[in-house]
Amino acid sequence: MKKRDYGWLVSLPFYGVHAAAVIGVALVGWSWKWFGLAIALYYVRMFGVTGGYHRYFSHRTYRTSRWFQFILAVLAQSSLQKGALWWAAHHRDHHKYSDTERDPHSFRTRGFWWSHVGWILSRDTEETDPNRIADLWRYPELRWLNKWHIVPGTALAIGLYLVGSWPALVYGFFLSTTLLWHGTFTINSLSHYWGSRRYTTTDDSRNNPVLAIVTMGEGWHNNHHYYQRSVRQGFFWWEIDLTYYVLRTLSVFGIVWDLHLPSESVRAGNAMPAPTPRKRPAAAASDEPVMLPPASASAPALAVSDAE
Ligand SMILES: [Zn+2]
Ligand SMILES: [Zn+2]
Repeated sequence: MKKRDYGWLVSLPFYGVHAAAVIGVALVGWSWKWFGLAIALYYVRMFGVTGGYHRYFSHRTYRTSRWFQFILAVLAQSSLQKGALWWAAHHRDHHKYSDTERDPHSFRTRGFWWSHVGWILSRDTEETDPNRIADLWRYPELRWLNKWHIVPGTALAIGLYLVGSWPALVYGFFLSTTLLWHGTFTINSLSHYWGSRRYTTTDDSRNNPVLAIVTMGEGWHNNHHYYQRSVRQGFFWWEIDLTYYVLRTLSVFGIVWDLHLPSESVRAGNAMPAPTPRKRPAAAASDEPVMLPPASASAPALAVSDAE
């Protein structure tokens, strides 16, 4: 196991946002109105995380235009969880090496704190490996956003201050972002520890309705590890999946399309098993595709439309 080498350049702003949230609320005073703004911006940006970083950039579970792809990256990065390319590259490794020593954030091998926060603050995970996201690396606008990943979040903070002064900045940015971070991080930590397992997978992923509400549907994490190509993570009507409902709505307007759904047989437990991680020479390992094979030939999931 590698030693825990935390980068101060990431750690200082990370803890600084937490401190600004607590001190800021103490200074400007409690307000339900402004707290409502914090929650609204939490869920709008959580959609960027789940519908953008995760279900689009990491897994390509649906298709969209190049301009909306860019909007998704900007919205996702307003959550200040680094670049969409960075996020997808590490998340693909999470699925490829789930709960092994090579998983960037395994609860099983490195415990709660590492899987929740530590891995993000570590110098070991700072770089983006283009080989992990070759399908996305070809877009210069995404590479630019990945390099200048703090731009959308910083612009949000400045905009909030200009429009609503200190209360808007404290609640809409510092408090909302702190909650959003920990809401998102529960998927890497608690979703591999707390909940039930419907499907047999090689990892410890769980289904948890509480985490599904907090994360707009990502709490159905055992479903997701079992069949990662699905745009929908709540496989049954009672498994609330707000991200999927938003994407379904966007598909009605033609903004997104080709939403890949699990078949009856997959939901019954007959999905093709995820490829088990293979030991390969380091130089060759990066070329290995991360996606599951398509469930049917008519469901391409790897191509983005360039017809903007
Ligand atoms: Zn995933
Ligand atoms: Zn996972």
